[in-house]
Amino acid sequence: MSQEQPKKELSAIKGTRDILPEEARIWQIAEAQAKEIFTLYGYRELRAPIIEPTELFEKGTGASSDIVTKEMYTFTDKGGRSITLRPEYTPSVVRAIIEHRLDLQPLPLRFYYIGPMFRYDKPQKGRYRQFHQIDIEVFGEKDPAVDAEIVEMAHRLLKKLGVENVLTLVNSVGCKKCRPAYGEALRKAAQAVKEKLCPDCQRKADINPLRIFDCKVETCREAASTFPKITDYLCPDCRQHFQKFLEYLDFYGINYQVEPTLVRGLDYYTKTAFEIVTENLGAQNAVCGGGRYDDMVREFGGPDLCGIGFAMGVERLLSVARIEKPRDSFVYFAYMGEEGKKQSLATARLWRSKGIECLVEFKDRGLKAHFSRANKIGADWVLIIGQDELSKGKFQLKNMLDSKQYEGTSEELAELILKQGQKT
Ligand code: ATP
Ligand code: MG
Repeated sequence: MSQEQPKKELSAIKGTRDILPEEARIWQIAEAQAKEIFTLYGYRELRAPIIEPTELFEKGTGASSDIVTKEMYTFTDKGGRSITLRPEYTPSVVRAIIEHRLDLQPLPLRFYYIGPMFRYDKPQKGRYRQFHQIDIEVFGEKDPAVDAEIVEMAHRLLKKLGVENVLTLVNSVGCKKCRPAYGEALRKAAQAVKEKLCPDCQRKADINPLRIFDCKVETCREAASTFPKITDYLCPDCRQHFQKFLEYLDFYGINYQVEPTLVRGLDYYTKTAFEIVTENLGAQNAVCGGGRYDDMVREFGGPDLCGIGFAMGVERLLSVARIEKPRDSFVYFAYMGEEGKKQSLATARLWRSKGIECLVEFKDRGLKAHFSRANKIGADWVLIIGQDELSKGKFQLKNMLDSKQYEGTSEELAELILKQGQKT
């Protein structure tokens, strides 16, 4: 690289961002809640790699989807292979099922995962290039009760995290049997208004008119609202599945609305499609999207295994969640001299094994300076270890919240902290 190039300021890549400790704490809470809830429903974590062969998404996500045509982070590695940073999770799970023959395990398979996804989206509020999803997958269960189960589970998580004003939009996008007739009707309708559509949708009118429903351009949306509705074209099997799904949603008391233009941005959906929106999100109002993909595993050359799942955007979720950060309770060690330092290290070591958070800093300070430091960083407790304390084998412990001071051996004080910690 040439030396003359101006030095660019080092900063995170456009559309990506750092999650600093204050905020990361909120993420940890949300993730822990999600994992706890999913476990209650029998879901287990499946962790797949971040990078995958590009053809996995071309095949899985679909060649005409926005993700594959415009949004993938693809590069060639040193071995000349085309690699893609995963834009979504489902194809990876399908690959893992086939690779490890998970279909031979008792069915259905229920998985969850939380992690980063990558899309070359236009960065703006609620839209990033590295973002995070909470992902749910079920394979081998065709009962519409499971479609409702994952919606109810998503609602439980949203409620737990204090998300309000949510509405679930639902639709059925039919199956291989009923979609061709609908596709034909749609193609005719799209051709009739082709000149009113944006250039992108004019192209879609020829190759996959269903994708016009994804377009956010107002004139295209207007045109799309006059198109025939998939729900009028469903075969008896899809119609019954949809009805049953709605019945279970009613059973759970879930606030939903049938939205016949909801087709979702991926090519692989069959039957159920849904989106959870909240008015608090503004333009990027979808916090969660999901649906069924009954043909996907087979199309990948795997067994005939139906699937359903959802993906929830963590950034969008957290922008509308109300999560209280618990107070971090820790002990600050105010010691004097080398001997006091060593005693602090030994005590902290013991206390940590009892589950007490301890902070030992290494700057030589006087007692007053220790206290002002402890105050500044928000310690709940200060343990004083000076000459006096060392010779007596008893230490002073100060509760910084109520200014009460205690004296005792290391064992006694540890017990006191643990007891008081349990009370708060
Ligand atoms: P949108 O229409 O907003 O682009 P999408 O249909 O592309 O959404 P999905 O593929 O269904 O999104 O992904 C599920 C969820 O992931 C979305 O509902 C959203 O919460 C989140 N999500 C998708 N893309 C992004 C992004 N670029 N930045 C942040 N969150 C995103
Ligand atoms: Mg998108």
